[in-house]
Amino acid sequence: MKRILITGAAGFLGSHLCDKFINEGFHVIGIDNLITGDLKNIEHLFPLEHFEFYHHDVSKFVHVSGELDYILHFASPASPIDYLKIPIQTLKVGSLGTHNLLGLAKAKNARILIASTSEVYGDPLVHPQFEGYYGNVNTIGPRGVYDEAKRFQESITMAYHRFHGLETRIVRIFNTYGPRMRLNDGRVIPAFIGQALRGEDLTVFGDGSQTRSFCYVSDQIEGIYKLLFSDYVYPVNIGNPNEISIKDFAEEIIKLTGTNQKIVYKPLPQDDPLQRQPNIDLAKKTLNWEPKVDRNEGMKLTFNYFKGLTEEELYKSEH
Ligand code: NAD
Ligand code: UDP
Repeated sequence: MKRILITGAAGFLGSHLCDKFINEGFHVIGIDNLITGDLKNIEHLFPLEHFEFYHHDVSKFVHVSGELDYILHFASPASPIDYLKIPIQTLKVGSLGTHNLLGLAKAKNARILIASTSEVYGDPLVHPQFEGYYGNVNTIGPRGVYDEAKRFQESITMAYHRFHGLETRIVRIFNTYGPRMRLNDGRVIPAFIGQALRGEDLTVFGDGSQTRSFCYVSDQIEGIYKLLFSDYVYPVNIGNPNEISIKDFAEEIIKLTGTNQKIVYKPLPQDDPLQRQPNIDLAKKTLNWEPKVDRNEGMKLTFNYFKGLTEEELYKSEH
């Protein structure tokens, strides 16, 4: 049985990855310090013989007993609100944490895939973004703590590949959504759905003309899975190219939730990218992957999940 370590296991993507690899017959070892994650996302796995979980901060030395075949490094705050609240931890998990996991991969002779992001393109001047674009990041702006940590993460990963011959993979994830996102994590989909369910107005930042392209979680997990088992070592974009402005998206959510909420406008956060859309030609060609779930279907599944939350969860404002 192959053994895989997943960091950030109690988070949104990490918990779906745990499910995927359990279902594929792997022995899964999860690590998380629960800074933005929730054990609720993985509690259904606790009774399983082939699932282990350790509460640990991977920015500190990481020890795992026994052999490892694969490592997925997904630990990192991912929502702008989260990483603005904990900027130093964000920098540390992307840099020191990645260094620890690369060292572990080398010691165990394991293949490692690291979770990078469309944020490495910053506020992009090339549209849609393809992997060869170097990006437009403000290193000293508030979002720099996340963007630069992820850019460093890519660099050190390639250095381990080139210098130590480590088997590495890099996924550049574009906005992904679905069940198990934290309702109050500040990302636009849980924010809008939470507001609709609580009967509050939807807060659009700026004039809402900025765009995003939303990928449903099952498509993202499939892309990551295919990348891990491919031979391709350079970064690959995984996302859904269906682009929409945030204002149009707010209107879609009002229709979907059947509420009569209004849209209210708030200031655009500093360095908020004005446009984002993945070019996924590389993923199509090298992984034979493309997204299957359209936004209408994915949003229905996501809304149903959030509708099932308790009143207490719906009104909890702090993690
Ligand atoms: P999330 O906040 O739900 O999950 C992150 C998990 O990492 C949490 O459970 C958190 O507790 C854990 N964590 C953070 N720092 C840690 C540390 N030092 N030690 C151990 N655990 C730690 O976020 P997510 O959306 O699931 O994102 C997962 C990964 O995917 C992140 O690396 C993120 O940068 C990347 N990503 C996600 C998206 C997206 O749209 N969801 C987009 C781009 C990149
Ligand atoms: N956004 C918004 N209202 C909210 C939360 C977010 O208008 O309540 C906007 C945000 O300014 C950004 C887009 O929605 O332009 C996506 O934000 P998110 O935090 O989900 O992710 P990002 O892609 O910026 O990392």
